[in-house]
Amino acid sequence: MRTSTALSLCGIGLVACIGAAMAGKHLATAAPQRPPQQPTIDRSKVPQLEPVRAPADLGAEAFEHVRALTGFGPRTPGSPGWTQQLDYVQRHLEGLGLTVQRDTWTDRKELVTFTNLAARIPGDRDERIVLGCHHDTKCTRGHPDPAHNFHFVGANDGASGVALLLALAPVLQRARHRATIELVFFDGEESLDWAWNDAARALFGSRRFVKRHRDAQLLGEEPRIAALILLDMVGRTDLHIQEELYSTRRLRELTWAAAVACGHQQHFFQRAEAASDDHVPFLEVGIPSVDLIDLNGNPHWHKPTDTIENMAPASLQKVADVVLTMLPEVERLYVLGDG
Ligand SMILES: [Zn+2]
Repeated sequence: MRTSTALSLCGIGLVACIGAAMAGKHLATAAPQRPPQQPTIDRSKVPQLEPVRAPADLGAEAFEHVRALTGFGPRTPGSPGWTQQLDYVQRHLEGLGLTVQRDTWTDRKELVTFTNLAARIPGDRDERIVLGCHHDTKCTRGHPDPAHNFHFVGANDGASGVALLLALAPVLQRARHRATIELVFFDGEESLDWAWNDAARALFGSRRFVKRHRDAQLLGEEPRIAALILLDMVGRTDLHIQEELYSTRRLRELTWAAAVACGHQQHFFQRAEAASDDHVPFLEVGIPSVDLIDLNGNPHWHKPTDTIENMAPASLQKVADVVLTMLPEVERLYVLGDG
């Protein structure tokens, strides 16, 4: 994804994912199809929430998933590591008794085959709250600039979101939910070019997922998606989840309120910047969405140093706390309509 405009601390994107004209995975500039960037929230005016703590070993468990996933090597679409990772995720979820939907398709223009994975945890209602992440890693081979070619395992940028969803799955299964919780692992988030190119060659999996959802809804075959919580780069040792300015304001307020309730506020929203990510296709069709992303100022983004050595179980644990704390409120607002 990529971040926005002048305040792009993340001019790093320049070097990293996206290259030429603008920034990489996540640097946003003025982009016609992008949702409007919004002002920051008033952090002094947010609801008080009851903290919901993740089990004490959840961060460590997620960390072990990161170790396993990065052990597969790069997970670019079609690579051996990508295949191994898909099987790993599916096996883990099926081991929990969940049914995994595997959606594989070949992009006609790119001639690249992608796979999204999804699993639903039933709640009182069929309406879903999607917890999403991307599972592909940035391609760091074959680029014209030699500086863009290196061994890259995407410990944070890729594996952390996958790992956290896998560790959260049994916790979510044990709790009673008003909404159905759908875990979705998007493929093809990363730009095929080094440059983000205004997402022209990125966000393949989330675009596909939203389109299929909309088509099924038109046929009356699928309940609505009430909200999306996206996890991307959530395990760095020096965790900092920025306030992502395309994200729905109400969900940003809930994220901040949950961080405060859990005592994790120093790791959240100390900086603000828009980032183009898998939540954009959801926002484009009016689905409230929030991106929990540690991009702004992240020195390891799309660098060879995005390895498990720069990750910490405690960071994954903190994000899990915040997600579990905000989730009941997201259900109340967007599923029960108590907002
Ligand atoms: Zn990336």
